[in-house]
Amino acid sequence: MSKTKYIFVTGGVSSSLGKGIIAASLAKLLQDSGYKVTIQKLDPYINIDPGTLNPYEHGECYVTNDGAETDLDLGHYERFLNTPTSQANNVTTGRIYQTVINKERKGDYLGKTVQVIPHITDEIKRRIKILGETGEYDIVITEIGGTVGDIESLPYIEAVRQLQWDLGNNNMVVIHLTLIPYLAAARELKTKPTQHSVKELMQSGVSPDILVCRTERHINDGIRSKLALFCNVEKEAIIESIDANTIYDVPNLMLEEGLDDIVLKKLNLKATRKPTLKAWNNFLNKYKNPKNTVEIGLIGKYVELQDAYKSILESLDHAGAQNEVKVNIHPIHSEGVDINTVKSELKGLNGIIVAPGFGDRGIEGKIEAVRFARENNIPFLGICLGMQMAVIEYARNILHLKNANSTEMDPHTPYPVIDIMEEQKNITQKGGTMRLGAWDCKIDKGSMVYKAYDTEMISERHRHRYEYNNKYLEQLTNAGLKPTGVNPKTGLVEIVEIPTHPWFVGVQYHPEYKSTVLNPHPLFIDFIKAGLENKKNTQVF
Ligand code: GLN
Repeated sequence: MSKTKYIFVTGGVSSSLGKGIIAASLAKLLQDSGYKVTIQKLDPYINIDPGTLNPYEHGECYVTNDGAETDLDLGHYERFLNTPTSQANNVTTGRIYQTVINKERKGDYLGKTVQVIPHITDEIKRRIKILGETGEYDIVITEIGGTVGDIESLPYIEAVRQLQWDLGNNNMVVIHLTLIPYLAAARELKTKPTQHSVKELMQSGVSPDILVCRTERHINDGIRSKLALFCNVEKEAIIESIDANTIYDVPNLMLEEGLDDIVLKKLNLKATRKPTLKAWNNFLNKYKNPKNTVEIGLIGKYVELQDAYKSILESLDHAGAQNEVKVNIHPIHSEGVDINTVKSELKGLNGIIVAPGFGDRGIEGKIEAVRFARENNIPFLGICLGMQMAVIEYARNILHLKNANSTEMDPHTPYPVIDIMEEQKNITQKGGTMRLGAWDCKIDKGSMVYKAYDTEMISERHRHRYEYNNKYLEQLTNAGLKPTGVNPKTGLVEIVEIPTHPWFVGVQYHPEYKSTVLNPHPLFIDFIKAGLENKKNTQVF
């Protein structure tokens, strides 16, 4: 049986250098070389998971099939590798401490002083090895969140130090991602910050095997030699990571730099084949050579922050490439949309997405956007809260149920067309208590979504507390808003659509979590197709 090898990715000098993309790109290359690879993210904050974090703080919360609320980097891992991740792929300091403290209360350490070393570091190491021990992977890549030198990442670095001894030679490599800034005044790339960051890492007993250098300009041979000398890294292990136009270029850039070769060499592995990235480059080719454009509005309340809707934006890119069109995304703040502004705010769009969300801020704008899409025959995709808003809009404007609402926004609404799920009523704890992860949905044959999916049974990921209120099912259905997808066990309405509209679909689930580069999501593909159709029909000659 092959023994799992481990790769650690640490970051230095600055945050936001793109450790997740480097880890995912390396994983892609190793996968294309014939290895089974997964990626894990260790996050140094004390929240048990990012589910309780505001998207402004940490971007989107990504949900796995098994219902874990995780860091958005897991989305990159899945999109790049085309394989699902799970709870084990994202661990936070909060979760580590929670496990250790629970064990202490149970008496597992009776008589002992419970300490960061060895108890916390043991738990970190256990979590790192869990994925390897499943026997499913040849290589596990562990990305350590934060920047070397942060107080809160110290126990993780210490765990990596200890693992050097536990795992032994050639069974692990440490990649340090760093920044080589260009000083315009000196007209020079500077290596000093990297030297300091490596020194910091070495003080913790960890020597990087490979340096990946983020840079705006090419690093020349002189810089490579200097980095090698000062940072104790072989020259061939200095990898340039130049700014790319798109994250999808990074696997190719890493291939050109030979990151996969040097990693395999250090792990004493022989690639069964050289990566070609054939399927990947097929996508990239279509992505870079669109034949048409389509204008899509994304209505949400966190639109100032790109990362808040990361998976939706990526899904649109995947679907655009599939349709060979460039998707121009127009982020529109829901608080700026009302009956007077809707026309100008949403002018010229070929498709409208109303985004997921929580709480009542900006929801009237979302409802106006739904109405605009419905009345003007503009393709509409409502995701989670977006679907709920579509139901409310229909109830208010077609059924004339004045002040119809979700009980999340208005607990005293006379028409609670969206209501809290029965099993949620007695839940008071916030973290990880929503209806999460993959649930089945049965689709009506002959519906718009059936055409998109081309199958009757689907499984999609969820993250919600409120649901379509079946008390209004007959009324809404008779008025033309059809429930075309339902959970076969519980009867929960998962999909609504308006068959008389060119393309109007609301889904209680999050299709964006399942779209990958090699497997773009059928719903997004069909939505973009409808957007193109809209463009054709509305073009003024
Ligand atoms: N706030 C809504 C609910 O809890 C929608 C959630 C979402 O959009 N993810 O049901």
